[in-house]
Amino acid sequence: MAETSASFDALIYIGRFQPFHVGHLHVVQQALARSQSVVLLLGSAGLPRSTRNPWSYEERRQMILDSLPAGELARVYVQPLADVLYDDAAWLAGVRDAVGAGLQAAGLAGGQAHPRVGLIGHDKDHSSYYLQLFPEWGSVAVDHYRGISATPLREALLRGQAGADPVTLPEEGPVMIEALLPTGSCDVLAGFAAGGAAASLQEEQVYVDRWRKAWSVAPYPPIFVTVDALVTCQNHLLLIERGRHPGRGLWALPGGFLDPEEPLLDACLRELAEETCIHQAVGLDRLRGCVCAVRVFDEPNRSARGRTVTHVHHLDLAARSLPEVCAADDAARAFWLPLDQLDPAHCFEDHYFIARSMLPGRVP
Ligand code: NAD
Repeated sequence: MAETSASFDALIYIGRFQPFHVGHLHVVQQALARSQSVVLLLGSAGLPRSTRNPWSYEERRQMILDSLPAGELARVYVQPLADVLYDDAAWLAGVRDAVGAGLQAAGLAGGQAHPRVGLIGHDKDHSSYYLQLFPEWGSVAVDHYRGISATPLREALLRGQAGADPVTLPEEGPVMIEALLPTGSCDVLAGFAAGGAAASLQEEQVYVDRWRKAWSVAPYPPIFVTVDALVTCQNHLLLIERGRHPGRGLWALPGGFLDPEEPLLDACLRELAEETCIHQAVGLDRLRGCVCAVRVFDEPNRSARGRTVTHVHHLDLAARSLPEVCAADDAARAFWLPLDQLDPAHCFEDHYFIARSMLPGRVP
């Protein structure tokens, strides 16, 4: 991203801010110094709580606004921004809409002159590719402030380590977590820690920690291969409610890990049968004949357990009525959901986006 010294009417700052830390605050301060207004787009909005995205849009917005001096608040506009995994064109349209709403709120839309808009951010790794997707805006590249990263802070907070164990910064060594969080974040996080959602996420973080520890003896970071079944019938989708961590209580496609000797389709049918018992109503041979598409989904951060590449088999059943299903194994419930009721706020990992991508125009 090219550095420019021009001043802007509005600088856009996109991020998940899970949590908003002093590195993010430093970027907002630089943006305020270079621009009349700053529009923050809070990404991954509207998803269920998870160890990767524990705090809601409203909680993150509060962290940010309560961390800024009162005198600056009139120049800062915060907007939610939903992910659209596997469809960057739709996500870009969402970014432009959210920026439009931010400019409107800032009184910069609708006039004769085009506002001078820029995008501010730090190109941290491959996940920052989106910073290059807006050639129509200017750009401001910022340095990595003190080497702070949200992930170790978030994981330590979820484990309940704030106030006890420090995190290690590359050039400074151990630093207490509270020293890396602005006041607004500390207040919101203290309130969150006292609520019921914190306990469930802590259990999930412990599960993820154990999983990673079990695999830490492998000579290379493991890459897991999974299968998922996208079963449709009469404009309904077959889902399970997850009975265990990670994602307990969330809606998911039936699926699981490939066994060592198993072809992908066999694994998919095995997991489908184990979790939904659908084979009792529709025989396995008939299910095998209903496969109409197979696609690979490989977003690098799609699973909390580590790199997981999944092979999704679409089975379209031509039945007149919905076959009976019942939950077993990892599933707490198996059910048919009308496609127009599929909601990202209830879905595990990227399963909503997989369904949206494989059933174009059929999922809201
Ligand atoms: P983040 O909170 O990790 O980082 C936000 C910004 O702050 C980034 O520019 C980052 O480099 C910068 N930053 C972080 N620590 C810093 C520090 N110490 N000093 C200076 N700068 C620092 O957020 P993110 O993950 O980059 O957010 C991107 C959002 O966009 C996510 O919600 C992602 O899901 C979304 N996205 C979605 C799609 C899609 O759905 N198709 C595509 C691209 C991006």
